[in-house]
Amino acid sequence: MYWNSELETIDRRGLERLQFDRLKKALAAAASTPFYKKVFSENGVAPSKISTLEHLKDVPFTTKNDLRVSYPDGMVAVPRRSIVRMHASSGTTGKPTVIFYTMKDVDEWAHQVARGMVATGTTSDDVFQNMMGYGLFTGGLGLHYGAEKMGCMVIPMSTGNTLKQIQFIQDFGSTVIHITPSYALHLVDEIRAHGVNPPDLGVRKAYLGAEPYSEGTRDKIEAQFGLDAYNSYGMSEMNGPGVAFECSEKSGMHLWEDYYIAEIIDPETGEALPDGEEGELVLTHINREAMPIFRYRTRDLTRFIPEPCPCGRTHRRIERIKGRTDDMMIVSGVNVFPSQIETVLMNIPEVGNNYQIVLEREDNLDRMHIKVELYSKMFQGDMRELERLKKRMGEALRAIITINPKIELLEPGSLPPSQGKAKRVFDNRSL
Ligand code: AMP
Ligand code: ZN
Repeated sequence: MYWNSELETIDRRGLERLQFDRLKKALAAAASTPFYKKVFSENGVAPSKISTLEHLKDVPFTTKNDLRVSYPDGMVAVPRRSIVRMHASSGTTGKPTVIFYTMKDVDEWAHQVARGMVATGTTSDDVFQNMMGYGLFTGGLGLHYGAEKMGCMVIPMSTGNTLKQIQFIQDFGSTVIHITPSYALHLVDEIRAHGVNPPDLGVRKAYLGAEPYSEGTRDKIEAQFGLDAYNSYGMSEMNGPGVAFECSEKSGMHLWEDYYIAEIIDPETGEALPDGEEGELVLTHINREAMPIFRYRTRDLTRFIPEPCPCGRTHRRIERIKGRTDDMMIVSGVNVFPSQIETVLMNIPEVGNNYQIVLEREDNLDRMHIKVELYSKMFQGDMRELERLKKRMGEALRAIITINPKIELLEPGSLPPSQGKAKRVFDNRSL
């Protein structure tokens, strides 16, 4: 089932022609913005002279910092009266990164999302309960407009308010939810704590995104809720969710290449990597009026899946995001991604739904502490059982990350629950 079969199954040559036309238009529009005017003149980029897609490489990368320094509107390509919406990214330090949309931009974005939802088999008969944050964050409103566009009944719940989430699923028969993986793991515990068996709620699908998570976490959420979970990827700089979405094959996310030109680069050198190799995803938005952005360094690590997808869509798939180039932890000189630890933990059946990684410095040595919640039944038995589990966990972790973390096994509910994006890593070393 397609939302727009012509565009979703377009042949590669047709797609490249479309990309070229859109790129040329986007470059011409961007030349009027203070930021790109300067960038183009410094790098000898003349939008009217662009003759192949390869010319995009004449434009240097754009970084999150470029968005910050051009705050609030140094990248805006349309008059103020044409703008109907703004969003801002959760940003860590300094000024937030702000994104603007025209009416057409909001509409196109809704089409992208509708495409993704239809690709997973959602129809206008579904009731969609959106548990992603509404507001400046793009997660809530992004899926909201897409779901309405394809005709779902939308319940705009936002995050938290767990009791009401459960009540509304029951009262309105919600069949599809949109949720962060960490909140999903918390919600399923809460549902059980209220004496309800999660699969009895009848939710059939979940869209999981906004933060990195492992295949094991997906499996866990699917098994506990009795549903199909689909990976959804995006970032505010590129509109928000809807950049890439899994289809019913659940094996990699189709990146909508009529909206974006995607590159995979070596994050160290900036050089393009051969097809299929893992590196940093770089995106150019070629179908947005208010704020064209070229060659945006997403800091997200992934790779293209070279094989075509059995679903018939011709837009290339990217693999689950492995992590960010900037969330990499360096512990005693070893590079460690939080996602590697999560993968190990979630493959251990006794592990519950929440964990934390704490980095500390003791006697000038880096120490990693991993606090893991287990299922409560683990605490009813023999203490030696726990010791054996701890040993097994330590060995499994050492095999992957090559360092020896200190492990603390906790009862369910010991760690603060997450309602939005989870904060898993606490680096106390620089304090
Ligand atoms: P924001 O702009 O605040 O929405 O944050 C966007 C970032 O969230 C992306 O660059 C990714 O690092 C992360 N993210 C979003 N969706 C996913 C996903 N499905 N898997 C992994 N990371 C994701
Ligand atoms: Zn597919």
